[in-house]
Amino acid sequence: MSPRRLSRPFRLTAAVLATALSLWAAWATAAITDVGGFLDQTESIRLSDHSRFVQKLAQIRQEAPAMTSSQQWRLRYLEGWESAFEGDYPTAETRLKDVASHSGDINLAAKAGALLLSVQVLNQKYDDAYRGAAAMVARLPGVTSNDARQTVLHNLSQVLDFAGQPDLALKYARMMRDPLPAGDSPCDSMALEIAALESLGKLNSSSAGLRQTIQTCLAAGKLVIADTARLIQVDRYLAEHRPRDALELVERTAADIRSTGYYPHLLAMRLQRAQANLALGHDAEAEQAARRVIAMSTADDKSIHLADAYHVLYEIEKKHGHGMAALDDYEHYVTLNTSYLNDVSARALAYQRVQQDLLAQKMQNEALERQNQVLRLRQSLTEQAARTTRLYALLLLGLLTLLVLWLLRVKRLQLRFREMARRDGLTGILNHQHFMQEAETLVAEQAKRSGNVALALIDLDHFKQINDVHGHVTGDLALRHIVSVVQAWLRPGDLFGRLGGEEFGLLLSGCAHDDCVALAEHIREAVAATPLRLDDEPIVVTASIGMAFAERVGFDLSRLFHHADATLYAAKRAGRNRVMTELTDEDLLGRSVRDPRPA
Ligand code: GH3
Ligand code: MG
Ligand code: MG
Repeated sequence: MSPRRLSRPFRLTAAVLATALSLWAAWATAAITDVGGFLDQTESIRLSDHSRFVQKLAQIRQEAPAMTSSQQWRLRYLEGWESAFEGDYPTAETRLKDVASHSGDINLAAKAGALLLSVQVLNQKYDDAYRGAAAMVARLPGVTSNDARQTVLHNLSQVLDFAGQPDLALKYARMMRDPLPAGDSPCDSMALEIAALESLGKLNSSSAGLRQTIQTCLAAGKLVIADTARLIQVDRYLAEHRPRDALELVERTAADIRSTGYYPHLLAMRLQRAQANLALGHDAEAEQAARRVIAMSTADDKSIHLADAYHVLYEIEKKHGHGMAALDDYEHYVTLNTSYLNDVSARALAYQRVQQDLLAQKMQNEALERQNQVLRLRQSLTEQAARTTRLYALLLLGLLTLLVLWLLRVKRLQLRFREMARRDGLTGILNHQHFMQEAETLVAEQAKRSGNVALALIDLDHFKQINDVHGHVTGDLALRHIVSVVQAWLRPGDLFGRLGGEEFGLLLSGCAHDDCVALAEHIREAVAATPLRLDDEPIVVTASIGMAFAERVGFDLSRLFHHADATLYAAKRAGRNRVMTELTDEDLLGRSVRDPRPA
């Protein structure tokens, strides 16, 4: 691919920006009623009637304060386009960047971004342009309007061909026809395609695509683009050493090129005329054309045409033996050609640099993403571990709770069983064994503090008869009844237990002798006065009570029992239903005293 071919596609960009047909006639400004429609109309004539476009732009600018935000962004886009058209690339860049970044309208932003690429190339900001192109490719799937999509593809194709990437340029040019939006001419896309094919070295003067492009663009009224294709064909003729065909086509196209007044085309056309004439040996015509190219070129012209014009002059001077003039022309040629080649390599280098940067960025992003994945994984593992730990803790807590509840239950049962073991099954008061233990403790305590202890043994009178008359069940009820009567008289600390059958023990403490006796008397009276009332007759039960006192017999439970049993016996003998505290004389006369305690 020859470096000079690279300049070809970019002629299209400039052509699109610079085409202006002066069709401006009498156009009266009118009040704008439909701002949106007015903007559409203004944009549509930007190339076909540029003067009127400028007028309309000035008119709508007056309406700006009353416009909606989206209408203001569209106005700003058109202003950016106009700045680019006028060659004020820094202003164009500022305006288009603003629209691309802040308009919030994806399609308008895409159009502005696409145009920005071409502006940046024209402004020789190659790195920015190629970076922008890569971003634009990524944004393309999100672009929904046909107009914006075509603009993006168009600019991508041009910029990439310019960057020395004709394969990509060809791809985006073809995408413009895949599918071609209804009502659009394929002219633009075909012209981009032949430009890319030329860069690829796959085009010759008789390529069908070249002929079709010229016809299609002429039919669509896109004269500038048709001229671009014709200039490409002239270049092909020259490369194929067909100067006659080249010159013939140049002369056929000259009028059209002059009518557009498009500077790059005028320059190219005159250079080709010089080159064709040189090849045909028409040195005078060749020199004249070459000098016109030099005359109309500007000092900072980066195109290859100026260098080539000096090359034509060099060949002529050399042929005519003008050594000094030839050398002078050759020096110009070398300087300009080197500058052009430098620019070409600057573009290609910029493209490669951006690709490397993007690749590095991508790798960095991937590395970051992998790092993030590791972090996320680690985090999720930590969370999972925390969840598992929480679960274990909950399980453990549950188990502990169950264990505690179970232990409490066991403890309650134990206490209940122990209590049951201490109680008499029928009456619920202390059983014999427990009464004896508690009594032992109480006596010992009272012995230490020199208190008083009195033991009363209560035996129900003729209880056998109650069983016999009323039955054993009633006998049981009578036993429980008597117990409740006695309990009503008890004080806190008094011990009351069933010693067996219908015999009970009552250990009193903290009362003086007489008070203890009085209490026993009250109990006896209460028992006698409170018969058991069932359905039938009230059943009267009486009790005999024998008492013994520690102050008399000592703090010894065995002795207390011994004496109380004797006094109880005395009470029975004395006629029952009474309290006895002393033995009667009769008792003292040799009656044996039984030990009430079971073995
Ligand atoms: P006294 O003591 O007045 O001489 O006459 P008593 O009839 O009470 O004579 P004893 O002490 O010999 O008889 C006690 C009776 O108490 C014998 C038994 O039928 C009755 N008895 C003992 N334990 C129970 C019991 O748990 N339930 C019932 N219904 N009767 C019992
Ligand atoms: Mg008895
Ligand atoms: Mg009895």
